[in-house]
Amino acid sequence: MKRVHNFNAGPAALPLAALERVQSQLLDFEGTGMSILEHSHREPPYERVHRGAMSLLRSLLAVPDTHDILFMQGGARAQFAFVPMNLLPPGKSADYVVTGTWAKGALEEAQLVGKARVAANTEADGKFTRVPKPSELSLDPDAAYVHLTSNNTLFGTQWQSYPDTGSVPLVADMTSDLLSRQIDVSRFGLIYAGAQKNAGPSGVTIVIARKDLIEGGRKDIPKIFRYSTFSKNESLFNTPPSFSIHVMHEVLIELAAKGGVAALEAETRAKSDLVYGRIDARPRFYIGPVEKESRSRSNVVFRLPTEELEKKFLKEAEARSLVGLKGHRSVGGIRASLYVALPLAAVEALGSFMDAFAAENDR
Ligand code: PMP
Repeated sequence: MKRVHNFNAGPAALPLAALERVQSQLLDFEGTGMSILEHSHREPPYERVHRGAMSLLRSLLAVPDTHDILFMQGGARAQFAFVPMNLLPPGKSADYVVTGTWAKGALEEAQLVGKARVAANTEADGKFTRVPKPSELSLDPDAAYVHLTSNNTLFGTQWQSYPDTGSVPLVADMTSDLLSRQIDVSRFGLIYAGAQKNAGPSGVTIVIARKDLIEGGRKDIPKIFRYSTFSKNESLFNTPPSFSIHVMHEVLIELAAKGGVAALEAETRAKSDLVYGRIDARPRFYIGPVEKESRSRSNVVFRLPTEELEKKFLKEAEARSLVGLKGHRSVGGIRASLYVALPLAAVEALGSFMDAFAAENDR
């Protein structure tokens, strides 16, 4: 068996022990004589998986009783639409902080549903290299909610602390940094994340939302699109993506065993420090476009002096089993995604390679 150092941006590296458990139980799940893939979602074996994943998420993220956890489908992009469909009633407006491609995508969906305004936009020359300072936000005190993207997967920026939105609910897309940092869930009206970066495989989307917002959500939309439908039915209104949730459950067991989110945050800091250290040591060779105060610890992006050097870097990295380092097609350059299941040793190997590559090519 060959396993590489996987820096993919998502779907991404998963803990080996979780994959091995999924493999060992694939044909006969817990002595039931059938795979979890073949189980009814209305019988105890799957129900234990479903509830187990929910309760692990609740304890890992210290989700208070005021908030519900939902498992949905359609990825994070479906949430771009679910959020305004549920939480943006006619006559109200929602605020969007535009810090990258995903934030823009969320804004555009909201504008199809109702009234959405831009509370700040950090785009400059077609690029996003920072998140706004609190003083740059123009917030509507009557907004239905404020939406932001916690970590910008493509451009490698991240909110270091979240803005105070007073009594207006804060809605955050945490697709690429959920579980990598400690958060105070009580400060958020709603959090959503496609699981396929830190929490597990693609196919399931985690939603954590204040119960009063869920209950007060719009009723003039189809039932299947209402958060309240998922909440009332423990996300078992219709058939859930049971295999994705099973794999996520096994991943969450591993993350808890590693020491929970406090330990994951410390390791994420250590991993990102290793890469940023290389960028800061040779800033004219490893060019970090992101402002230091906005640097992402989940996705570290950098450029080299020429595209030829970038191609050479990627090719030689691959020869050392360092894969998935190509920047997003819309941004170019190099991107190292350092999600929680990526072992520290993989980032150490990347750091050594960056040293060797610079020693040879930075003349
Ligand atoms: N938001 C963010 C921050 C993302 O990184 C991504 C995917 N990379 C999305 C939304 C879209 O996610 P999905 O493909 O699950 O719809």
